[in-house]
Amino acid sequence: MPEIYDVVVIGGGPGGYVAAIRAAQLGMKVACVESRAALGGTCVNVGCIPSKALLQSSEKFAEAGHALAAHGVKIEGVALDLKTMQARKDKVVGENTRGVEFLFKKNKIGWLKGTGRIAAPDTVEVTLAAGGTETVKAKSIVIATGSDIVRLPGIEIDEKRIVSSTGALMLTDVPKRFVVIGAGYIGLEMGSVWGRLGAEVTVVEFLDRITPGMDAEVARNLQRILQKQCFTFKLGTKVTAAKSAGKGVTLTLEPAAGGAKEELVADVVLVAVGRRPYTDKLGLEAVGVALDDKKGVKVDGQFRTNVASIYAIGDVIAGPMLAHKAEDEGVAVAEILAGQKPHIDYDAIPAVIYTAPEVASVGKTEEELKAAGVAYAVGKFPFTANGRARCNGETEGFVKILADAKTDRVLGVHIIGAEAGTMIAEAALALEFGASAEDIARTCHAHPTLPEAIKEAALAVAKRSIHI
Ligand SMILES: Cc1cc2nc3c(=O)[nH]c(=O)nc-3n(C[C@H](O)[C@H](O)[C@H](O)COP(=O)(O)OP(=O)(O)OC[C@H]3O[C@@H](n4cnc5c(N)ncnc54)[C@H](O)[C@@H]3O)c2cc1C
Repeated sequence: MPEIYDVVVIGGGPGGYVAAIRAAQLGMKVACVESRAALGGTCVNVGCIPSKALLQSSEKFAEAGHALAAHGVKIEGVALDLKTMQARKDKVVGENTRGVEFLFKKNKIGWLKGTGRIAAPDTVEVTLAAGGTETVKAKSIVIATGSDIVRLPGIEIDEKRIVSSTGALMLTDVPKRFVVIGAGYIGLEMGSVWGRLGAEVTVVEFLDRITPGMDAEVARNLQRILQKQCFTFKLGTKVTAAKSAGKGVTLTLEPAAGGAKEELVADVVLVAVGRRPYTDKLGLEAVGVALDDKKGVKVDGQFRTNVASIYAIGDVIAGPMLAHKAEDEGVAVAEILAGQKPHIDYDAIPAVIYTAPEVASVGKTEEELKAAGVAYAVGKFPFTANGRARCNGETEGFVKILADAKTDRVLGVHIIGAEAGTMIAEAALALEFGASAEDIARTCHAHPTLPEAIKEAALAVAKRSIHI
């Protein structure tokens, strides 16, 4: 007789493992199918965690190399030990994946180690990593299979010279010439890592701007700052071919609108043109689960697919492909299965780019408000006028708050500056609570801190900043 569960979650990433834990907390009998050798999904194994570990280490190397002298800290003979840096990153990943495994044991969640296929609306067949198959029954199935990289036609990823983000996290030498195809957050973060360690970084982007979807003013500032670092941008340009020869890769570039070709030689090329929902070999067609126009799993507001017992969350459904969005959906789907009525405010999901400085945003951009015909007021405050930013020697960037012109309700907050990713939490809370700019302006902020710039930007909405 197959084992019978209340819920079987397919995929052990931040969406899936959080759904499994919350469902277990709510008293359900839960199993999670994960094909990787470690839990945690893309995020913990080859995404958020290893990239942030390398960003942290490479930032320390860059600081030791040239940023500390201005503080009166002189270091001579700074040298890179990439092997140790990579080993540290692997250790951090291991601590996190083992952490998820511990949480599974604590919550009595069964980890079915292998690849899951939905054989029927109440049946999951697992091709076990150790060999053989196991079939389990479930009252509800949650698809949390995440996403995979988008490939470019004619450009074969070998994970050595032409790499995806996964290969870019594992390089054993610093490339002299590192070319990134795609100016999204993954390309800019990996470009930052290898640039800080000594690579010349060229980013080739089809569009005429970087970081599509980000507030355009912030994106322009980020581009300008990155150009002062190790970055060269070739915008409005497409890569039409990549040929590996000898120790390098020769890329053929063309203007996006067509025109004369040029060649660009690289030691390593990172293809970072986006990610796609991953539903391969899940058996969705046979069981009749409908997909949306982006080949993601189609769900309603309660994460239900068109098949009554099957739900989906995270990168495999529509919405921003972010770990915290997947986690919140994991909690929500488990609570829905338990008969509760959770709600996610998709307008209050922050997004962060961990470059130096960081960029973080929540809510609407100016472009989105204009397109929607919403009248808004802008409050801005630069970090050059913030005392703590001066103390820290990190004065680049600004805070920008967009508030409804009539009601003063905060509609969007955009921060470019040191610690922006940490500071955006205050703004997300403000949006979640439906705060006005005045609410933020009248909230006492500790001095001297970087978040005082948020308060000043809120004051600036009503044109009454104090410190500028
Ligand atoms: C380089 C990089 C950096 C990133 N940095 C950030 C960041 O800083 N912040 C952030 O919020 N997001 C970041 N992301 C995105 C983040 O990793 C994803 O949004 C998040 O992992 C999505 O979670 P998920 O649970 O939906 O899917 P995933 O994490 O992709 O997990 C899905 C899991 O399902 C498994 N699986 C798939 N099919 C099957 C099957 N049939 N049977 C069994 N198992 C299966 C996969 O092996 C995978 O482990 C980054 C991504 C990358 C690539």
